Amino acid sequence: MDADRRAYAVWVSEIMLQQTQVATVIDYYNRWMQKWPTLQALAQASLEEVNELWAGLGYYSRGKRLQEAARKVVSELAGQMPRTAEDLQKLLPGVGRYTAGAIASISYGQATGVVDGNVIRVLCRLRCIGADSSSPAVVNRLWDMANALVDRSRPGDFNQALMELGATVCVPKAPLCGECPVKQHCRARSRVEKELAFASQKLFGKPTPVPDVEDCGVGGCPLCPPAVEPWDSSLGVTNFPRKAAKKQLRAVRTATCVLERRGCRGAPEYLIVQRPSSGLLAGLWEFPSLTLAQDLQEEKQREALADHLHAWTGQPVAARSLRLIGEVIHIFSHIHQTYVVYSLPLDRDVTLDPALSPSRWVTEEEFHASAVSTAMKKVLKAHEKQRGKESSPGKGSKRKRGAKTQGAGSTCPGTQLSLRAFLQAQTAP
Ligand code: SF4
Repeated sequence: MDADRRAYAVWVSEIMLQQTQVATVIDYYNRWMQKWPTLQALAQASLEEVNELWAGLGYYSRGKRLQEAARKVVSELAGQMPRTAEDLQKLLPGVGRYTAGAIASISYGQATGVVDGNVIRVLCRLRCIGADSSSPAVVNRLWDMANALVDRSRPGDFNQALMELGATVCVPKAPLCGECPVKQHCRARSRVEKELAFASQKLFGKPTPVPDVEDCGVGGCPLCPPAVEPWDSSLGVTNFPRKAAKKQLRAVRTATCVLERRGCRGAPEYLIVQRPSSGLLAGLWEFPSLTLAQDLQEEKQREALADHLHAWTGQPVAARSLRLIGEVIHIFSHIHQTYVVYSLPLDRDVTLDPALSPSRWVTEEEFHASAVSTAMKKVLKAHEKQRGKESSPGKGSKRKRGAKTQGAGSTCPGTQLSLRAFLQAQTAP
């Protein structure tokens, strides 16, 4: 494989792997590379196609920026990837220091280090770095160490080996120190051994030696554990790295409605609408949704949603006709999102107004193949679960799945009512 194709492959895999497990990524990666095997192919893709393939991976802006960067390489850089970590980071949107280092070392052989979560853990333990691992002093020191350690002749292999060490041996909870190839150089391990020696000396009434200055964590060192959080002997080497305090997530409540009609063969179809092209979940499709003020009473949120739905259905929606399904929680990187889920079966069909945001009716299969977020899939699942309960025998079945609703407007081609016709029918004497 030529270096540019390899760089593209490394780039796609690194972007997908950020905060996502390898097992989850493999299928996405294979489908992506099959569809867009080169940068040039990706540059010609539409954002809709990218979002559809990315759906379920989370962090949707990453797929979008990957495609923007591919377009930039083709249109502004004559199809040539930048060859150094510095240029990759400077010229390509969405490529940070880690991704740039990985592409440059693995694909172009640049002797530059990488620092990801695994490397942070290994280096912090090797050097007993116990200050907050996201603090600028620690981050800078870790990058300096990674750049100094990297093997000049095989930087890509070295970087991958270091990350693999963190993923398989120096793991977060129960590291396999006995099998570790760098155990002789590890200060965390030697600290554990010293602590054990002190403990046994104390047991036999011998005086304990003065701790090494490297172990004591005094003197305001920006790399040492804070004095208020002393060494915990029950944690051993996992005293390092010290985790950053968890960020408080912003709580957001959103009312969302599964608007449902019967399709040609009686199967349900759902209305989905497209989100704006910027911001959270940009360009993705969702059920008509409305952000709610915090602490809004159920009655009020139902009324607000009914007003919002008026625009989509082209007719007033009675708040009482909305059926409350329940709540679905989804955690985004910085948001604790609660969806208050309602459903509304339409017993007359409407054609959507093209003047509104893009919207379309989809079958369940089409819904899952569309660029919809995992959160929306959870919403549909909650709705289906509720419907399953209602239609199960002996529980007062209201409607059978797949059966055509009596009096439902047909949605077969050629017989669908336009919005204008629908409104006229509503107001006709
Ligand atoms: Fe990690 Fe243990 Fe190896 Fe040190 S000896 S690097 S703590 S696995």
